Amino acid sequence: MKKQKTNIGRLIRVVCIAMFAAIAVSLLGLAACKPDESSHKHTLTVVSKQDATCTEKGNEAYWKCDGCGKMFSDGEGKNEIQSVPEIAAKGHSVPTMTETKPADCTNKGQKSGKCEVCQQTVTEDIPALGHNAVWTAVDEQTHIKKCTRCEYTEGDAEPHNFVGDECTDCGAKKAIKPYTLSEDGKTLTFGSYPQSKVEDTALQSMLNAAIQNKTPTADNFNGWTDYEYYVNGQITSYTWYIDVDYQGARYRGVYFTLYRPIHTWDFEGDPDWWSTQYDNGYETGNVYWFKWAPIKWQVLTTEDNKLLVMTDWIIDCQQYYHNSDEDRYIEVEPYFIQANNYKESEIRGWLNEDFYDTAFDELSKEFICQTEVDNSASTTNRSDNRYVCENTNDYIFLLSYKDVKDVAYGFENNSASCSARHRKNTDYAQCQGVLTEEGYGPWWLRSPDYQTPMAASYVYGDGMIDGTNLDVYYIGVVPALWLTL
Ligand SMILES: [Zn+2]
Ligand SMILES: [Zn+2]
Ligand SMILES: [Zn+2]
Ligand SMILES: [Zn+2]
Repeated sequence: MKKQKTNIGRLIRVVCIAMFAAIAVSLLGLAACKPDESSHKHTLTVVSKQDATCTEKGNEAYWKCDGCGKMFSDGEGKNEIQSVPEIAAKGHSVPTMTETKPADCTNKGQKSGKCEVCQQTVTEDIPALGHNAVWTAVDEQTHIKKCTRCEYTEGDAEPHNFVGDECTDCGAKKAIKPYTLSEDGKTLTFGSYPQSKVEDTALQSMLNAAIQNKTPTADNFNGWTDYEYYVNGQITSYTWYIDVDYQGARYRGVYFTLYRPIHTWDFEGDPDWWSTQYDNGYETGNVYWFKWAPIKWQVLTTEDNKLLVMTDWIIDCQQYYHNSDEDRYIEVEPYFIQANNYKESEIRGWLNEDFYDTAFDELSKEFICQTEVDNSASTTNRSDNRYVCENTNDYIFLLSYKDVKDVAYGFENNSASCSARHRKNTDYAQCQGVLTEEGYGPWWLRSPDYQTPMAASYVYGDGMIDGTNLDVYYIGVVPALWLTL
């Protein structure tokens, strides 16, 4: 134990002496090397000016002491500076940049050009444009915020903000439908046609004054238009019309100097014997005025977005074809065109030209479908009918024999009297001479009669289906069409 203690004491002593010596030596050494601040004389070396390039920075000239490393802006060492006086890099000088990849809403694009100083090709990003979402119509009811450049949409579709007829947000116009469907969907109004007689004598006088009380003659129509009706088998000037717009409404004046005959080939109608015009209360040498009104239609069936409709009233009175002459026999394979050929009939032309252009404006016409009209024998009163024609593509057509027996359309499947086939005559149709019995009139079907080339089917006033000569002048017109909703 003793011996150990002695060894530890000696060890401590030795370490202490060594430490003291080391400290003393280091203190003496420092004192001997430290330079004297006041007596130091800088040894300045110039660092010459270095120009900057497009990408590398340069520097102004400055001086640096070799001894202490201090920097000065002057050669005398008066103005000490703390850092190298840098000249910033100039950056490239590119006179024109060309887009090499366009930016879109979400992706950045790129453009590049050549530096006119260093000739290096420089490329830069074009930032993404971001979406430009504005109110855009989705359909007639709604709009959504949609980007004008891409398919991006923001939020949900919302109802248009209509003020009047226009959405103030997206500019959508309220859809203008040229027809008005009844609440039960069974009838609609569409198009316009002269219908009820003007009974008000003051209004009659105003309308007569509007045309300066002028009436037409065969030699001078005086602004009136000739209906070009037949008498004695010839188109003759004896019935005219004139349309007048007065105080926001339209009126049609009708004037005739002869009665329409019972057949196109008859001499003038005789009121003492039989004239349907006279019977209806219309006489030669008078101006009768009829007010144009929306045409009322009955919906027969609905298919997809279309309605098959027929007029609710007999709206006019025309011949099917002006001559029942059996001579009309033209062979056009595979058909024999005879007088009751619907395709070649005058009433088909009247419906698709005269009536179509008179009753419908340009907007309304866009809602009338051109339809393939089935003229096959199966739509007539005999399945082996020899007088049928090929199918026609028409806007307006007459119903077929088959149509008016179709239970799906609301008719009875027979040829007997049927109230669903009753049609009333408008005043205007009566003035044209449609037969009127107990308030109802007869109306043409498009189907040729199978028994003779001189007849076609028609519906009698009581709803009975029969056939009659093509050229009779007292059968009314009930147009039908397919309307697009
Ligand atoms: Zn120095
Ligand atoms: Zn450059
Ligand atoms: Zn976008
Ligand atoms: Zn809108």
